[in-house]
Amino acid sequence: MLRTALITAWALLLLPLGVGAEEKLSALIVDGQNNHAVWPQTTEMMKKYLEETGLFTVDVARTAPQGTDANFEPEFAKYDVVVSNYNGAPWPQATQDALIEYVQGGGGFVVVHAANNAFGDWAEYNRMIGLGGWGGRTEKTGPYVYYNEQGKLVRDEKPGSGGHHGPQHPFVIVVRDQEHPITRGMPSAWMHAQDELYDMLRGPGENMHVLATAFASPEKGGTGRHEPMIFTIDYGKGRVFHTPMGHAEYSMECTGFIATLQRGTEWAATGKVTQELPKDFPNADEVKSRKAAP
Ligand code: ZN
Repeated sequence: MLRTALITAWALLLLPLGVGAEEKLSALIVDGQNNHAVWPQTTEMMKKYLEETGLFTVDVARTAPQGTDANFEPEFAKYDVVVSNYNGAPWPQATQDALIEYVQGGGGFVVVHAANNAFGDWAEYNRMIGLGGWGGRTEKTGPYVYYNEQGKLVRDEKPGSGGHHGPQHPFVIVVRDQEHPITRGMPSAWMHAQDELYDMLRGPGENMHVLATAFASPEKGGTGRHEPMIFTIDYGKGRVFHTPMGHAEYSMECTGFIATLQRGTEWAATGKVTQELPKDFPNADEVKSRKAAP
């Protein structure tokens, strides 16, 4: 606490002089278990994407490869934002409590793809991430939330399981809010690289703001509805940025995914976005990717 108090005091002294602006934001990626075997690479990619902005320093906290890791107790409070690439066994109770306390107290949290499959019976986690899939989620977890053809958010309380996707394919992201810092300046529609299009996501969906959706085409095994693809949740004093995109390395090579992650993480950390959109941001017709280093 003393350290926090000192940092706060310094920030107050330095920010008006503009000196504090040189201090980077600190991000922590949590991983260690995931049903997506590519996770060590996707963590490296996300670390690189965040560092490339020049805004972040990035640490990684990794659990044991299986089971509840009794020694997994990252110091969330040291960071401006925590990014989850974790989908595995429950964390120790103290670590669960620490994450909730951290975000409720004003910390930032970022949920990427299968991180929304994790912890299906952890009620506070579901409140924090808004929506999730699999992990035993049903109507008891919350409604299935989607956009209808009229562009209205629907909360469907009908019974059913949560989380589904058809075969992977490239798909169009439709921006629903072009004023939000994360999506500002994005074209109203842009092509996302090959990915799983998560549909039927369920959860409390409280204090949730959908910034972009994707149409889950029945021809591609989808629901025929517009599924949330970029959204935020206000959780206590904290900000949560959530994207169900990012199944594989080729999905994360999409320049639209990269910019969304970079901006969403900055927003979760500070409530602002200072980054311009990259010149190679996709348009509505064409996937744009940057090959990850081998
Ligand atoms: Zn996946």
